[in-house]
Parts: sequence; C-alpha cells; structure tokens
Amino acid sequence: MQLQDIKGLGTTTIKYLNELGIYNVTDLINYYPFRYEIIENTDLKTIQDGDKIIVGGIVENIPSVFHFNRKLNKMSFHLNTGDFITNVTIFNRAFLKIKLKIGTTITVIGKYDQKHNSIIASDIKFGLIDKTLIEPIYHSSFKISSNKISKIIKSALPNIHINNYLPQSIIQKYHFIDRNTAIKTVHIPKDKTTLTNALKLLKYEELFTFMLKINNLKNNQKHDNGLTRNVSSEQVKKLIQTLPFELTKDQIKAVTDIYKDLTTSKRMNRLLQGDVGSGKTIVSFISLYINYLGGYQGALMAPTEILATQHYTNFVKMFPELKVVLLTGRLKAKEKKEAKAQIENGTADIIIGTHALISNDVTYHNLGLVITDEQHRFGVNQRGNLKNKGLTPDILYMSATPIPRTYALTLYGDMDISSIRTMPNGRKPVKTYVKTNKEIKDVLYMMLDQIKNHHQIYVVAPLIEESDKIDLENIYQLEEKMQKAFGKICHIGIMHGKMSDEEKQNVMEQFKQNKIQILISTTVIEVGVDVPGATMIVIFDSYRFGLSALHQLRGRVGRNNLESYCILISDKETKRLDILTKTNDGFKVSEEDFKLRGGGDLFGIRQSGDMNFKIADIKTDYDLMLKAKEDSQSFLQSPEYNQPEYQYFQKQMNESTNLD
Ligand code: ADP
Ligand code: MG
Repeated sequence: MQLQDIKGLGTTTIKYLNELGIYNVTDLINYYPFRYEIIENTDLKTIQDGDKIIVGGIVENIPSVFHFNRKLNKMSFHLNTGDFITNVTIFNRAFLKIKLKIGTTITVIGKYDQKHNSIIASDIKFGLIDKTLIEPIYHSSFKISSNKISKIIKSALPNIHINNYLPQSIIQKYHFIDRNTAIKTVHIPKDKTTLTNALKLLKYEELFTFMLKINNLKNNQKHDNGLTRNVSSEQVKKLIQTLPFELTKDQIKAVTDIYKDLTTSKRMNRLLQGDVGSGKTIVSFISLYINYLGGYQGALMAPTEILATQHYTNFVKMFPELKVVLLTGRLKAKEKKEAKAQIENGTADIIIGTHALISNDVTYHNLGLVITDEQHRFGVNQRGNLKNKGLTPDILYMSATPIPRTYALTLYGDMDISSIRTMPNGRKPVKTYVKTNKEIKDVLYMMLDQIKNHHQIYVVAPLIEESDKIDLENIYQLEEKMQKAFGKICHIGIMHGKMSDEEKQNVMEQFKQNKIQILISTTVIEVGVDVPGATMIVIFDSYRFGLSALHQLRGRVGRNNLESYCILISDKETKRLDILTKTNDGFKVSEEDFKLRGGGDLFGIRQSGDMNFKIADIKTDYDLMLKAKEDSQSFLQSPEYNQPEYQYFQKQMNESTNLD
C-alpha cells in the first residue's frame, strides 16, 4: 500500500507529509504521537481558559442556529450540568438541532472559553458517557495539523497488518502484546492500560535496536589497531603555555587522556562530557593539534552551520599557520569542489564542518582523528558511519548533556569517558530567578538594567511543540512587546526554526557583533553558541523544558567575568524550576532531573534536549533500557540472531557501519 492509496489523500497533502519525513505507509504508521491529551470527566469548578473538557448535562433551552452560508453554521444552547449552566457552541452541526430537545441528556466534548463562559464543542454525544478520552498529539507543521495527521493514520490503519519484529523469545519473556495491536493502539488509544502496554512494546523495541547497535559496535571494537603518533608531551605543553588562559584541572586531565590515546596504539573511542561553558572546545582544538603534529588530518564535526562556522573562525585565529578547510552544505558548488580537492590531496590539515564531512563523496588524504561536537545530536548510526571511511581514525565525541555516570555507561557503553566538572576560573555562577507572568514588569526592569550597561540579552519565546504556527505567532507577539519596551533604546532581532540557515547565521552574526542587543528566538540557540557579551537570558514557558535543557540554555550566558542572569518565566511547576536557582552544576541538575522524572511520566510532554529516541525516553525508561541492553547482548550471541527471519537486524547492523 502506498500513500496515494489512502482514501482522500491528495498530492498536496502527500507533499506536506513528505515534509514531515513521511514518504510511505511504513513511515506513516511509525509516526508516533509525541504525547497524549487525556480528557477526563471535567469538574467545571476548577476549569481554566482553553482547557479541553468532557462534561455531561441536560439541554436547557432550544438551540439557536445561525447560518453563515450554505455550508457554514453555528449552533448555540445552554447546558445544565447540575452545578452550572454554561453556553455551548458548536459549528456545522445544525442537523443535530432536532434531536437536542430540552431535557435531553448529552455529553459535550470541547474546549472551554473563559471570556464568553462558553464551551466550544468539537463533538456532542447523546447520553452520559463516563469515559476518558485519549487523544494522540502528533508533531505537525504549518501546513498539516496534528488532527489531520491523526485522521490520515486512522483511515490507513484498518487496511494494514503489522508483523512482529522482536525475537519470539523476547516477546514471550515479557508477555508483550503483538505489534499489530500495539501500533493500532498508540494511534487510536482506547484505554490507558492497553496504551501503556502498547507503548511498552514500542519503547522496548526501540531501545533493543539501539542497544543491539551499541553492543555490536562494542563487540567489533579492536582496541590495539590504532594509530601511534610521535608527538612529545613537551610539544603539547608548549602549546598550552601560549593559551590566553590557564586550563582547568579537568581540562588538563582530559587532554592527558586524549594524548595517551593518540600516542599509543590504543584506538581512541572517547566521550568528552562537560557542562556548557566548561571549555570542551579548547580540548578538542588541542587534540586536533596533537593529531596534526603526528602527521594526520583531523576533522571536527558540529551539528549546525552556526557552530561549525564558529569553531572554524576560532580555530583559524588560534592556529593561523595551519591549513583549515570549512565544509558545510551551504558552500557553493565551486567552493565545495575546491574544499573536497584540498581534503583529498592532503593540502587541508584540519577540516571543520557539518554532516557534510562524512558524506560519501568526501575522500580524506589521511584522516587520523574525528571529533563530533554535541554528540547527543547525532544518532548511533552516525556513530557507526564515522568509523568507516576505510580508515581507522581515532574518535572523540563531545557532549554538553552531562549525564550521570551510570546512564552514560549504558548509553555510551562502547566508549571511554572523560568528564570536565570544574568551570574555568573567574566564572561567576549565573544568578537564576523564577518569575510568573504577572511579574513581567520586574523582568522588564531587570532587562533594562542590562541594556543600560550595554550588555546583551537572549529571550527564548514560548514554545508550543505541536503547532509551529502558534510558535511563530508567539515569537512575533513577543517581538512587538519587546519593541514597545526597548525599541527606542536598542536593536531587537528574531530567530526561529522556519528561517533558512543563512538567515539564522546573519542574525547570529549581528548579535555577536553587538549590532543586536536583544535576540528573541525559539530554542535554535540551544547548541553551543558563544556570545560573551550576553549577560541575561529570559526563558518564557520554562516549565515546558526539562531541567537539563534549561540548564543548557542558561549556559549561553555567564561566559565572561560579568554578573549574569537567567530568568525562568513560568506559571506552573515553579518548585521543580527552583532547583536551577540553587545550583549551577550541570551534573547535579541532571541528577535531579533524572530523579524527578524517574517513572510515572508516561503521558507527559517529551522534553527537548534528550537523546533522539522516537518514543523511548532514557530517563523514564531507564530500567527498560537496562533489560534491552542485556537481552540484545545475548541475542547477538545466540544462534537465533543468524536465522533468516531476523535478517532485518543483521541488515540494520550493516547499515550502521556504512556511510550515509
Ligand atoms: P563548551 O564546553 O560549552 O563547548 P566552550 O569551549 O565554548 O564551552 O568554552 C566557553 C568559553 O570559555 C569560551 O569562550 C572559552 O574560550 C572559555 N574558556 C575555556 N577554557 C577556559 C579556561 N580554562 N579559562 C578561561 N576561559 C576558558
Ligand atoms: Mg561546545
């Protein structure tokens, strides 16, 4: 079955689906909701504006109908719930009027509109239904809503049968429900129990596949076939002495670990984890330099153009005598060709760029070291990809998501770990405050203080995951407010995910050069951006983020010796956010985050900044992951693994070690 075979699906809609990464029916049914809206019988006493509700009552008066035109109509009536009488409005259901006699018992499903003390109904059911409605919410786009996606999936599902995927032995071990039911349930949930079981299977599946790859990488690792480099520790010390600052103890320890890996035959496969601003970049630069002295090319890969360019600029400044090549998707064809030629003929000593670095058409002269920044942004597949260029480069991964050691050992089970826990000297902790929307005036005054002192500010706009459209409205509204408050005394810029890389880069460049003093953005600033002049970050709707993600954002400021501030604006969950006011240590924050979210968060919002799992969550599903780890290891070693019916696993393993 193809997408165009689904009833009512036209080419335009198919195009919109393609833009979400859905190209065929398999993609479609694997497009899981990222959260569920649970609507339970509602108590009107505690209801707030915009809440989804389901409420029973009797029709109090004869409904009045207004026809806008032949197709569009609006019907209103009063509903008596026993405690209250509220107004109900529903569109295009005039045909129901005849059945909605005074005294009829009905259940209304809809949204509460406080201003008009009214329920905007999406559906009316006859009789009282005492039931929980579970509504799947999908990541959607400007052009196609979550609702529409749900409808498409619903119409496709009945014609599809989905086979089991996991090994039989495992399905039996955990009494998993069959995959067909599970997939249908996550899209059309009937009740919480079945949904929980369905999610459990799909999460396990994802973790199992992930751990299978990790275990496979680990099993295939040969530790003693690495490159040795003839570089004396004196040469490295000499470089360190020329730095404008003294390295911290942990930075020196990390450099020492890496130096050892690079100069002995042990193949390096190392994770460098350290809080935002802890100074991982300089460690990576030193590593590239050691590798260069050893006579090899080195590559540094960053997840975004902005970061890659930033690293490139800094590296060139620090090592003007080296030939450094920037390779990103943005280069013009001619530039790209030239860059690739320099990489291939060995003119390039250092190559800095994005994904483009590992694409098939890049041939290295003698690649000795590959470093990836913000490793958690790249999938385990790419981890495999990097290793195979027909070469055996040493590998260093960097991650600013400090994860407690136990978790790190599971997720990065195939690697050695160096951690930077101490912050550079003279760095003041960022002063963090939690404020409600009502206290916005205080916040504006605090911002004004910074502006007067010629400092810069990041403002993170409210984030609504399921609708990019509202996202944009929010950011423009916020811009208007900021213009009103500060437009006369400073320049305000905006940046969001719908802008092209070039536009983003432009805005970022202006912010760096202090041509913009207030930068309003969605979370596109999250990754690694370094603007030392910024001393304040204001984050709206901060309850929507995990603590670790907030901590990452906070790391954008406090990058010099000035006093810096982080303002978390939230009307909810202020207690959880308080943790951030008490500590600036990313490891502590992440431990708290793990503790707080340990279990029970099944139906919650997926928080940003985590690993790139589609449905599993390394924090809440940690126990499941441990099981998957163990099971996948025994599966790899069992005769079952080589049986034809599990070829898809073997295929995946091969994919994970091929390029692109
Ligand atoms: P991250 O670990 O988040 O990648 P960066 O490497 O971007 O952090 O470092 C943040 C800032 O701190 C940079 O401006 C860098 O030059 C500076 N820095 C790094 N190490 C030190 C140090 N030992 N002393 C003072 N400043 C440092
Ligand atoms: Mg960094």
